[in-house]
Amino acid sequence: MSEKYCESCGFPLKEKKDFGGKDSDSKYCVWCCDPEGNLLSYKEVLTIWKNYLVKTTGMSEEKAIDTAKDGMSKMPAWINKKN
Ligand SMILES: [Zn+2]
Repeated sequence: MSEKYCESCGFPLKEKKDFGGKDSDSKYCVWCCDPEGNLLSYKEVLTIWKNYLVKTTGMSEEKAIDTAKDGMSKMPAWINKKN
């Protein structure tokens, strides 16, 4: 089985519980989806990503937003997002 990653945030999708909506056909992880498995908005994912960075690295909110935006700009789900 090939490695799968969330197309919104790059989170590795290994077990069924990691997939959005617990659907192993989903292209997105559970963090980037609502409970029904629909992808959240750009702003919602950005906030999740930013909070994650602040929590895990201790970087400032401002730096975390820039880092998250940069990271998201490389993801298939957001690559065409003009911001
Ligand atoms: Zn994700």
